[in-house]
Amino acid sequence: MDELEAGEAAVDLDDKEPQEVLAWALEKFGQSVAICSSLQAESCVLIDMAWQIDPAVRVFTIDTGRMPAENHELIGRLRARYGIEIEVFRPEAATVDKMVAKHGKDLFYKDVNLRLLCCQVRKVLPLRRALMNYGAWITGLRRDQWATRSNIRKVEIDHDHGGIVKLAPLADWTEDEVWDYLRVNNVPYHTLYDKGYKSIGCGPCTRAVAPGEDPRSGRWWWESGAPKECGMHCAIETGGFEHELAALLNGHGANSRNGHVVHTSNGSQHTNGNSNHAHK
Ligand code: SF4
Repeated sequence: MDELEAGEAAVDLDDKEPQEVLAWALEKFGQSVAICSSLQAESCVLIDMAWQIDPAVRVFTIDTGRMPAENHELIGRLRARYGIEIEVFRPEAATVDKMVAKHGKDLFYKDVNLRLLCCQVRKVLPLRRALMNYGAWITGLRRDQWATRSNIRKVEIDHDHGGIVKLAPLADWTEDEVWDYLRVNNVPYHTLYDKGYKSIGCGPCTRAVAPGEDPRSGRWWWESGAPKECGMHCAIETGGFEHELAALLNGHGANSRNGHVVHTSNGSQHTNGNSNHAHK
């Protein structure tokens, strides 16, 4: 699919229900499209909807090695409910070992660049490896989650991942709509939501938030002036972590600079266009 086709599809599908977007994607891409599940509420909605359209829908998740134990329990419940596999992709052990040996296991608390380095090693690189198996991927991104997501399209070309197609069927849904769907359809969801979490991420980097607080304020809560993004859905450029990452990867370079960039070096952030933003 090229830019023109993706643009036309984005316009055609923009006012359609998530099920219609999913049906279109499953029809068009078959087994070469997969849901990338963060195990957040949105992912569970998408799995339930897609499974009703095609019980053979493919689903994968990234296990960073720092996920809360409740993630594994939810994967088990989703597998039991829907009879789907849920492929698990993990970071390269050798790269993680080098990073931990050099910077410590909890390097993310030291500064933003080390946090982004950890996200690159544990999330972004495994995602890149996972997406080499697919021609399209489905995310649970919503426009009202964070400023960097406000312009996402339901269909777009993902230049950060080789020009495959990226879908966001829930782009125009609200948090309330997500939870209404989960409750009405009795869909399995992450148990940490019942303990005050509004967003689910790695254990050391996510905490519960008070009622009324921004849902993403529980992510990397100790940082200020940095995006609540990990780089999975938009390239992040700080001028800080890239050389460290290249060193860990033996100088092979790490990150495509095509597409969408969030700059953080001066504490500000922006994206360069109308697509590809984040979640997780
Ligand atoms: Fe590392 Fe935290 Fe990013 Fe997880 S969220 S990959 S633990 S920095």
